[in-house]
Amino acid sequence: MKKFAVIGNPISHSLSPQIHQQFAAEFGIDICYERIKASEDDFKQVVLNFFANGGVGLNITVPFKHMAYDLCTKTSKISKKAGAVNVLFCKDNLIYGDNTDGAGLVYDVTKNLNFSIKDKDVLIIGAGGAVAGILYPILQQKPNVITLINRTYQKAITLRDRFNENDNIKVANFKDTNKATYNLIINATSTGLKNIVLPLDKKIIGKNCLCYDLSYKDSKFLQWAKENNAKKIANGKGMLIEQAALSFIIWHNKKPSTDGILVETFA
Ligand code: NDP
Repeated sequence: MKKFAVIGNPISHSLSPQIHQQFAAEFGIDICYERIKASEDDFKQVVLNFFANGGVGLNITVPFKHMAYDLCTKTSKISKKAGAVNVLFCKDNLIYGDNTDGAGLVYDVTKNLNFSIKDKDVLIIGAGGAVAGILYPILQQKPNVITLINRTYQKAITLRDRFNENDNIKVANFKDTNKATYNLIINATSTGLKNIVLPLDKKIIGKNCLCYDLSYKDSKFLQWAKENNAKKIANGKGMLIEQAALSFIIWHNKKPSTDGILVETFA
């Protein structure tokens, strides 16, 4: 039986084992997929032991995506842009890393939700690891402009400077965002799970606006969007499943169906 796992801290809430078991069942592949809790001190050794003991692939989640990147011998272009990986595999004793978070989000938004990002005015709230992973894939969709806001302003500046190839990422303060409207507003802060209300003005919700929260459940942000007549709202379950499907393709070279998973896993 092929061995896989997701490493993070905390990790008990992770839905990755269920999702990958469902993908594997579609192809009759027998897999073992575990959750592994690591600490910053033992993360590297946990990864090396996993592969030394015959493990095939790992997903990496908070807070280890940057540490995992540093462990890799080879990484994809998107991972290099992000400086972070969420998928690892081992071949000929070399560790390979990729980042499927951004592609998972873009697939969910453009295909599942049928929302084109091209030429849109996009507001992204947050400047943590998730934003580092999604910025480049969103830029590849050619939005008109991306505005980044973050509680810690300097972190948004740092990200802008890393990705701003065509001057199409702007940084603003929370209080300045009400001077514009947006077609796509993405909450990529970790406030979703904490019931925190972000200081956003309802005037920023533009016509036909999609409000998307990366967190897996309906948050205060999505509640705010609904109350203020956003055209569409969505939480991050679709992204979670699509990034998992892309990991599955990397490991098994087979594309799983993601349709039924949305219903079955979260019912
Ligand atoms: P990080 O810890 O790296 O970043 C957290 C971000 O949230 C920072 O920008 C931080 O601002 C901001 N933040 C935290 N508390 C507050 C607050 N009270 N008010 C305003 N801003 C706040 O986390 P990640 O970037 O890795 O993850 C962000 C979210 O995305 C998480 O909820 C995670 O579960 C989700 N996620 C979902 C995925 C999916 O597949 N659906 C994939 C990856 C992530 P500051 O810089 O000021 O600290």
